Amino acid sequence: MTMMQHSCQCPCGANQFSAHGKPIVRFFCHCTICQEKYDASFADVTLFKLPAMTLPEQAITFGKYKRFAAIDRGICDACQKPVIAKMGAGEKGYAFISTQNFVSPEALPTSTMHVFYGTRTEDVDDSLPKYHSWLSSQWAFLKLLRSAA
Ligand SMILES: [Zn+2]
Ligand SMILES: [Zn+2]
Repeated sequence: MTMMQHSCQCPCGANQFSAHGKPIVRFFCHCTICQEKYDASFADVTLFKLPAMTLPEQAITFGKYKRFAAIDRGICDACQKPVIAKMGAGEKGYAFISTQNFVSPEALPTSTMHVFYGTRTEDVDDSLPKYHSWLSSQWAFLKLLRSAA
């Protein structure tokens, strides 16, 4: 049985990497950091376990941002756009990847929720659950991660 492989790259292509198997969840993030880093009203993000990622030598600078304290965001040295964000390390780590960094996003599941909806810059008219606060967004994640463990 071959495991599904998702090819990924940053917008300029300087960083090439891949994710294997099934993602844990895909969601929309309206936090102010995503708004700034993606230059958009929200980010479309897919979450994988870190061991599912293949990250060759990269042109990335990782830096921590305060909103989601545990998340270490990697920004491409060339295009200055998000490449991948990591939470934790090794077997217990997770990887957040912008869906626009997937070469074939149609292979991904649909998004299941909106987080940090309280800081949205525009309303979204859909039936997905919307977690407004930092706390409710964190809880939504913790629940998901526990069920995926
Ligand atoms: Zn780049
Ligand atoms: Zn965000």
